[in-house]
Amino acid sequence: MDTSDRTIATERVERLHDLAREAARADRQDRAKRYVRLARRVAERHRLTLPTRLRRFTCDRCDAYLVPGRNARVRTRDGHVVVTCDCGEHARYPYD
Ligand SMILES: [Zn+2]
Repeated sequence: MDTSDRTIATERVERLHDLAREAARADRQDRAKRYVRLARRVAERHRLTLPTRLRRFTCDRCDAYLVPGRNARVRTRDGHVVVTCDCGEHARYPYD
């Protein structure tokens, strides 16, 4: 695979991420999940590392695109950010 394929794939992932965020903010959660799954699939196929913001704002269990205050709760605890999805899944990240 040449570099341009990876560049195109990276741009697709970014674009799908933007679409997922827009859909989630418009309360189109099913549509947002489709974009999240597509972005993950493209990244997998091209062996790309998912962008940090995409990893952090998607739920590993249900693929929801997380919008704090809408379908996710965000708390800080012991130097970590704890994100809780509406499905009950928690994710912890170092505070930065
Ligand atoms: Zn979830």
